[in-house]
Amino acid sequence: LLLPVGAFIAAFIVAVVIWLSRKRLSPLAELEIAVRNREFIVHYQPIVALKTGICIGAEALVRWRRPDGSLVRPDLFIPLAEESGLIMPITDQVIEAVIRDLNGILVQDRTLHIAVNLCAADIKSGRILDVLEAKLARTGIRTEQIWLEATERGFMDIDAARITLEKARERGHSVAIDDFGTGYSSLQYLQGLPMDALKIDKSFIDTIGKDTATSSVTPHIIGMAKTLKLYTVAEGIEAEEQAEYLKAHGVDFGQGWLFSKALPADAFIAYHRRTKEKFGAAPEVIQAAA
Ligand code: C2E
Ligand code: MG
Ligand code: MG
Ligand code: MG
Repeated sequence: LLLPVGAFIAAFIVAVVIWLSRKRLSPLAELEIAVRNREFIVHYQPIVALKTGICIGAEALVRWRRPDGSLVRPDLFIPLAEESGLIMPITDQVIEAVIRDLNGILVQDRTLHIAVNLCAADIKSGRILDVLEAKLARTGIRTEQIWLEATERGFMDIDAARITLEKARERGHSVAIDDFGTGYSSLQYLQGLPMDALKIDKSFIDTIGKDTATSSVTPHIIGMAKTLKLYTVAEGIEAEEQAEYLKAHGVDFGQGWLFSKALPADAFIAYHRRTKEKFGAAPEVIQAAA
């Protein structure tokens, strides 16, 4: 009788020690374990042509799925990941997830594009381009189908950023400037950068139809994007009225809860099929409205 009781007590102590040590892990140590255990998954938020409703692709948005099944939003761990350098293996896992989730549909449907968010370190070093080249080589996905999103935070070293973005475009990727309007960059500064698209930040979309100080800025932000002859994407569209306004002001594409939240891969593929039946297919080469 003593033997099983002893074993039980020992197992209990081991369990308590494991529980205590897990509790005492720092956020960084937890994130390290998550990277090692590959706890990152990707949801896909549809991007639609405002004029036609056609779905031209999606933005890949990372989520941390903890062992208990809960999903952690990226704004809660991306800052720590950027600071610690863990963002790089996380980005690699995002690219692997895109390939695993969507290889079939991306090969079958060349009109479909996926936008991946780059971190500042990768924009500076260009490391990500070799990762993409190696990982895409074993698939039938074209580089033209993978867009890269860069925020102005990645342009601290502007010469290095220019080299990476140029190389990305030479290889066929499209480059979009993310959160446009929230940075410090002047039009002149941006004009010299190799890029294809501007994503107008949600904070400007939020002001549409409201009478605030920023609402008068929004048409100028759109105007700047058009001046640069880039295609424009508005993010965070929640209301029909916002979509109508953006369409009337010549914004090409939109993303937001009005169309769809970010979806698990299967649901995104279903969304894409459904809208394709309803509105038709996008052109293979995406161009800005004149
Ligand atoms: P972002 O790239 O500007 O992405 C847009 C964010 O707005 C997403 O949040 C999206 O779900 C949210 N959103 C879209 N439509 C609406 C809407 O209609 N209403 C509202 N309230 N929100 C909307 P999410 O997924 O939480 O991502 C937040 C940020 O985290 C992203 O901003 C991006 O900067 C970063 N992020 C996400 N995935 C990655 C990644 O794989 N790598 C890197 N480096 N950053 C990532
Ligand atoms: Mg983005
Ligand atoms: Mg954005
Ligand atoms: Mg944003």
